[in-house]
Amino acid sequence: MIELHGVCKSYRRKKAADDINFTLPEGSGIVGVIGANGSGKSTLLKLIAGLARPDKGSIRFNGDKVTRRTSSEIAYLPEMESYYSFYTVKEMIDFYASQFPDFNREKAADMIAFMNIEEKSKIKSLSKGNRGRVKIMLALSRDASVVLMDEPLSGLDPMVKESIVKGLISYIDVEKQTVLLTTHELGEVEPLLDQVMLMKEGKVLAWEYTEDIRLKHGLST
Ligand code: ATP
Repeated sequence: MIELHGVCKSYRRKKAADDINFTLPEGSGIVGVIGANGSGKSTLLKLIAGLARPDKGSIRFNGDKVTRRTSSEIAYLPEMESYYSFYTVKEMIDFYASQFPDFNREKAADMIAFMNIEEKSKIKSLSKGNRGRVKIMLALSRDASVVLMDEPLSGLDPMVKESIVKGLISYIDVEKQTVLLTTHELGEVEPLLDQVMLMKEGKVLAWEYTEDIRLKHGLST
């Protein structure tokens, strides 16, 4: 369960999070976070992951205040590639398994087989699409109750996006996991989403079940 009460975060004078309040029970499925550039999507994910500290308000995960240590319980996939491209896929899996007790090697092996990627390949030798897949695989191989994915499809071509949406994302256990996924293009992930949160200028402007959001907010993407 994630609970945010009156959460504010500013960078200089810019409000990246402005009085955010919501509760997400366990097993909330996949929640899309949409909004223009700079609306605060990444900041929201970093705050929940314990990687940024709120100036005001509280963030709780299963009743406990979120701190940097929370990142061992929440799977966070950053927007930028943050792993070392000189490592092989297997070395990255070993690294994740050593860092996170909830890392599920069986799930990882399953996804690697599904993706048809050689474990001994160096990350830097993979295509951009396969690097994107490996990044998602590493986040989804954790049996974490909360998964935060910051623009997992950004920079990938439409075919890769579609194969990820139809394939890898099915490894999410929507009964047990809550996933927050940011995107600029609602359309490319819409079939996956249970709910959509619309952000503007650090505020949560609307929160709807997926089918309602386009109608009410005139979204065209
Ligand atoms: P995008 O879609 O472009 O990734 P976003 O919706 O994820 O944007 P954030 O990255 O959360 O938005 O940024 C919200 C605001 O906070 C922006 O104005 C951004 O410039 C600012 N901001 C975010 N992180 C920092 C930082 N580390 N230092 C200074 N300003 C920041």
